[in-house]
This record gives sequence, structure tokens and C-alpha cells, in this order.
Amino acid sequence: MTDVIIVGGGNAAFAAAVAASQQGASVLVLERAPEAEAGGNTRFTAGAIRFAYEGAEDLRRLMPDLTDDECARSDFGAYSEDQFFEDMYRVTEYRTDPDLCELLVKNSRATMQWMQEAGLRFQPIWGRQAFLVDGKFTFWGGLTVEAWGGGEGLVEGWTASAKKRGIEIRYGARVVSLIADDEGVHGVRVKQGGKTTEIHAKCVVLAAGGFQANVEWRTRYLGPSWDLAKVRGTRFSTGDGLRMALEIGAAPFGQWSGCHAVGWEKNAPEYGDLAVGDGFQKHSYPFGVMINAEGERFVDEGADFRNYTYAKYGREILKQPGQFAWQVFDSKVKHLLRDEYRIKQVTKVVADTLEELVQKLDGVNPGKALATLNAYNAAVMTDVPFNPNVKDGRRADLPLPKSNWANTLETGPFEAYAITCGITFTFGGLRIDTGGNVLDVDLVPIPGLYAAGEMVGGIFYHNYPGGTGLMAGAVFGKIAGTAAGAAAKGQTLRDMTADR
Ligand SMILES: Cc1cc2nc3c(=O)[nH]c(=O)nc-3n(C[C@H](O)[C@H](O)[C@H](O)COP(=O)(O)OP(=O)(O)OC[C@H]3O[C@@H](n4cnc5c(N)ncnc54)[C@H](O)[C@@H]3O)c2cc1C
Repeated sequence: MTDVIIVGGGNAAFAAAVAASQQGASVLVLERAPEAEAGGNTRFTAGAIRFAYEGAEDLRRLMPDLTDDECARSDFGAYSEDQFFEDMYRVTEYRTDPDLCELLVKNSRATMQWMQEAGLRFQPIWGRQAFLVDGKFTFWGGLTVEAWGGGEGLVEGWTASAKKRGIEIRYGARVVSLIADDEGVHGVRVKQGGKTTEIHAKCVVLAAGGFQANVEWRTRYLGPSWDLAKVRGTRFSTGDGLRMALEIGAAPFGQWSGCHAVGWEKNAPEYGDLAVGDGFQKHSYPFGVMINAEGERFVDEGADFRNYTYAKYGREILKQPGQFAWQVFDSKVKHLLRDEYRIKQVTKVVADTLEELVQKLDGVNPGKALATLNAYNAAVMTDVPFNPNVKDGRRADLPLPKSNWANTLETGPFEAYAITCGITFTFGGLRIDTGGNVLDVDLVPIPGLYAAGEMVGGIFYHNYPGGTGLMAGAVFGKIAGTAAGAAAKGQTLRDMTADR
């Protein structure tokens, strides 16, 4: 009999698998996707990962191949645990579960180091999270490091690390239900190659993602119009893990009507495309304006660094007539646009004047759009200097303001990009204790059942600080895997809430 079964093949699953194996447990990973599409949402990411660090020395420990020259050209700043807590509480509107948030924040740095020791490599996010000003890259928004090779690199790294430890990975293996009785969970039923079989194990860790790829559940839990959203990542996260846990009496937890959703290429396919990865996203709106079908702006594009607004603005785009918007930029900021604006698969128009541009914005009232853009231009506080590395306070003073980074749209050629809502992952999940054990509806731990990653409810509400999904997956994957591995080997764990 296997000691620990891991359901899923993304970041949380692999963190759990490696941690369980480090406890001396035999581990079997069951991944629903075929190998060519394996790795869940994790594989679609850029690999940006948020953790607390005290300064460049912490980063050099994590990335020993950073050169002196690279460090001299970079101002990495610091991101304290207090700032991480503050960001989590602020963006979730003070709803994040305090115990889960504490585990996330306090374990973030040590878990990064643990991942590095497990064989993963990291690098600073030079392009996306720092702009070159006066010869120095200044990092902003608490997000400084990404996995080497992005999401692909992360999944490859985890897979190699797991295989090195003798962990077996089965692809195309869809877990359909749990084997459970009054004593707890004893294994899973899995469908592979058209056949359903039972695999017994001492413990099961569920890391099977959210329900964002299930159109019926999206409509049921997130509400009207969510059936019209595009799925940014894997088509395999349809809520199987959540369903099978709820079926045996697990407690749901967190914001089941909430999700992470962003501005995403209007004509993107129904699900993510691994060849494009996260390239369909359009995250440079803080340097332009967004216009809906009625020719109106609908959010403060410069309310905060994009890391703190992008995950909630997808919902705002979904609410607009026709579920779309256009992002408009002038040529002064073209060099600041992220790499994702330079891919082939964009719906883009270009014009020399605003008058010409509004005529090209498909589906938009051109007269109203022009009036909106002209009113915006007139409201920009041009006497405040523009600086993309800080919240510069350069406002467009309007009833719906643009609070930072407001530049006039006056230098052609102008560019506009069409976007819709892309859903990333759902926030509702299972209730776990601080040892990763899934609780039942009476809040009693279900023996042998653990959960990690997007399946954990109670961490995110309303919004999300960029780079926290991977960190949460790693932290809670490690906790769940360690606890499951130890339980399978008949060991008891010391208190998991301690700072480690
Ligand atoms: C385009 C995109 C970009 C992103 N960028 C970032 C970023 O830069 N930084 C960041 O922190 N987060 C990012 N995220 C969010 C991040 O991907 C997730 O929060 C994180 O990867 C979730 O990890 P996970 O292991 O919980 O889920 P996943 O990686 O989605 O893994 C779930 C796994 O479960 C498997 N599965 C599902 N059902 C079953 C079943 N029945 N049986 C067996 N296996 C099953 C799936 O095949 C998959 O392998 C991004 C997401 C997307 C889509």
C-alpha cells in the first residue's frame, strides 16, 4: 500500500509530494491531465512568487548566481512580514483567515529556501516588476522573484525533484472519489485509460485546483455572466477535488462567490493555451485608460500598483456591457508596456489621432469615447512628475479619478487593445486546520485527508496580491505533505503553527 496519494500535478501537489517523501513516506502523484498538458495552472504562470525578505542578502541566498554587477544595478528594497500581512489584510478587506494568513506569511521565506534546496531555481523579475530609472532597476509592489523558466520551469523543476526522490507520477489519472468510512480516508478511486480502479493509501492530499474550468459551477457559485468568462489556465480544474471532499462531509470555507480574474485578450480561446501562457493578459492599464462600450471609463486604472488591482478588475470588466473594454495608450508610455502587448495574438488598433482611434474601437460609441478621452486629458495634473516605480500621485482629477501615473493621451500614434474577463482561479475551498488536515462540517479533522493550493478556502476574498497563489500553494503543500507523510509513518508532528 502507498503511504500518501497526492491528487493533482501543480505546484501545491509537488510541494506536498516532496514534503511527504522527506518524512520517509512512499508517495504516488495522480495527475488528471495527460503529460503534454500536465502541471495545472502552475504551468501557465510566469512563476512570480511573493515572500517576505529583508534585503539583497536574503535574495542572494536564494539566488546564489546573482552577480555583483546585477546587484549594483538593482534596488531590491525589502518586503517585511508586516508589509505582507498589511497587503493580505488590505486587499481581502480584512477577511483573510488570521491563522491561514499567518502560516502563509511567516512560512513564506523559509519555504522559498526549502524549494531551492529541493532543486528549484529563481531569478529577479527584471522586466515586469522593476523599471529602469536613472540607471537602476527599482523593484516595487512586494514582488521581486520568479521561478527560473516561469511556470514551465517550475513544473519541470518539481517533476525532476520528485522523480529523483523516487516519487511515482501517473498522468491521465483522474481521481473520481475518495475511499472513506467512519475511520477516515483510505485511498481513492481513479479513472485511467477508461478503467476505474481503487488505490489504497494511508493518507490522501488533495491539490486538484479550484472549479474555474467548470462553467456550470462558475455560474452556480460566482453568479450570472461568469459562464461568459474565459479560463486563463488549465481545463482540468473543474472542482473534482472539492466535490469529492464535500461528498464525504468536508466543510466548505472561504468566499465561494469570489475569484481571481483579470483583463484578458478579448478573442482568446475558451481555456488557456500553453503556447501563449499568460501572454493573453493585459496588465499595463495603470499607464493608460480603459473604455467600455458606452465610451466611458469604469475603474481607477491608477488606484494602486497593478499587483494589487489586476485580480479584481477582471470582475469589473465582466460587468461592462458586452463584457469587454479597450485599453488606450499613447506613444509616450509604449516602452513601459509589458511583453504581453508584443505577441501576435492581440486584438489591437493603431491611429495617429484620437478622433481616428475612437472610430476603430469595435463596439464602442465613438462620440462618447472621444468626449471621455478629452475630459481625461484636461484633468491630468501635468505639474506632478511621472514615475512608474512609485505611486507618483500624478492624478487625473475627475469624479472617477485616475489616482497615479496619469499621462495625457496626446502623442500619437495611439494604440488600443481589446480585452474581456479571464478567470484565474476560484477562492472558495475546503476548511483545513493549521496542520493541513481537512475538517468536516462539525470542524473535526477527517483522518487521512489533507488539502493544499487553490483548494484551501479562507485565504483570499475579493482580491489578491500578485504572486501569492504560488506561495500559498508551496506553503500549504509543504504543510499538508509533511503532516500526511508523518501521519502515514505513524509519527506525530510538533505544532505546525510555529514559525519554521
Ligand atoms: C495564466 C496564469 C498566470 C498566473 N500567474 C501567476 C504568477 O505569476 N504567480 C502566482 O503566484 N500565481 C499565478 N497564477 C495563479 C497560480 O497558477 C495558482 O494559484 C497556482 O498555480 C495554483 O496551484 P495549485 O497546485 O493549487 O493548482 P494547479 O497548478 O492548477 O494544479 C491543479 C492540478 O490538479 C489536477 N487535477 C484536477 N482535477 C483532478 C482530478 N480529478 N484528479 C487528479 N488531478 C486533478 C490538474 O490537472 C492540475 O494538475 C497564475 C494563473 C494563471 C492561470
